[in-house]
Amino acid sequence: MSGTSYVIRGAQLLGGEAGDLYVNDGVFAEDAVRGAAVIDAAGLIALPGLVDLHTHLREPGREDAETVLTGTRAAAAGGFTAVHAMANTDPVADTAGVVEQVWRLGREAGYCDVRPVGAVTVGLKGERLAELGAMADSAARVRVFSDDGHCVSDAALMRRALEYVKAFGGVVAQHAQEPRLTEGAQMNEGELSGMLGLQGWPAVAEEAIIARDVLLAAHTGSRLHVCHLSTAGSVEIVRWAKSRGYPVTAEVTPHHLLLTEDLIQGYDPVYKVNPPLRSATDVEAVRAGLADGTIDAVATDHAPHPVEAKDCEWAVAAMGMLGLETAVSVVQRTMVETGLLDWAGVADRMSVRPARIGGLAEHGRSFEAGAPANVVLVDPAASRVVEPGALQSLSRNTPYAGMKLPGAVVATLLHGSATVLDGRVVER
Ligand SMILES: [Zn+2]
Repeated sequence: MSGTSYVIRGAQLLGGEAGDLYVNDGVFAEDAVRGAAVIDAAGLIALPGLVDLHTHLREPGREDAETVLTGTRAAAAGGFTAVHAMANTDPVADTAGVVEQVWRLGREAGYCDVRPVGAVTVGLKGERLAELGAMADSAARVRVFSDDGHCVSDAALMRRALEYVKAFGGVVAQHAQEPRLTEGAQMNEGELSGMLGLQGWPAVAEEAIIARDVLLAAHTGSRLHVCHLSTAGSVEIVRWAKSRGYPVTAEVTPHHLLLTEDLIQGYDPVYKVNPPLRSATDVEAVRAGLADGTIDAVATDHAPHPVEAKDCEWAVAAMGMLGLETAVSVVQRTMVETGLLDWAGVADRMSVRPARIGGLAEHGRSFEAGAPANVVLVDPAASRVVEPGALQSLSRNTPYAGMKLPGAVVATLLHGSATVLDGRVVER
């Protein structure tokens, strides 16, 4: 893929000194090419294109909620150049055929590199391993495997999955939720769940699985990635595992960095999510964990749902919220404005490390000549009030509606070709 030539003039590279970037034929170049289009980037921060380890694109099967096209347009608008598409589609992405279909749809849309995640078990049923090797060998070259939405709760299956993916450098991404401890669970277990009369979702249901799995990762010598970690205890367990040198990585969502369970007092299902919003103490702990590198990555868990799945009673509403188009703003608010991370740190947690975890050689790179020109320009001085109707996503279930958030994505380049310019998604 190649595009127009660009000169990106005066961008603050990783938030540091201002410099020019030259883009030609899909890669960064030493010098400007004659006739290159100029992007005035004074005051803008240049980061490597963002990489999401956890996106629900919903296609095939739930095209009323999102499609690969609408989801990757949303991703580009949010500054992403690569997304990992979760396997809980219909049919489930548990065969080479389905992952190749998703990968191909991503190529045709042209807004992001779409890396399908393969299911760990057939039909996400947790009974027997899916065709992990066939998915790895397919054109989609799957390296991340997850039953996300469900926990691989069977310890023997989890062990076998870890052993299996080790052969081709894969990673098992676990949705850590002990099923018996969360039967009927509706929100974080604590004083508030008691007051609101909603079934509690205890922190230990997440922590028990993470504790088990970091030990399995150590035992097998194979890579474990912890999805959407949400509690202070989970941070402690991952910190301990890393101190022992275990091959473990972890992600946190933007919403777990910003929002707390207190929002649930109005019973608005837009705040219903899995894992649930937690306490202010947990929010503080996950921010600290992201700052010190215990948590490797911010991953959106972008989970679009049609209006009818959210505009209903709390108890029956679907779990999940949008995230792609607001992620960098939420990270600016929670991590940069608080002094916990600088922009180089944001580049590390939202591009470099997630690219490494997912095995994406063309993302999370430096701006040096010859490297693929995947880059996002962020205006940190901008701010906006989030309007659900203005989002690229087909769905509207954003928890930030009406909220003023800092920062704006001004431009996104994918392999040297603009997917976003002047803050607008480019038609392709
Ligand atoms: Zn999940």
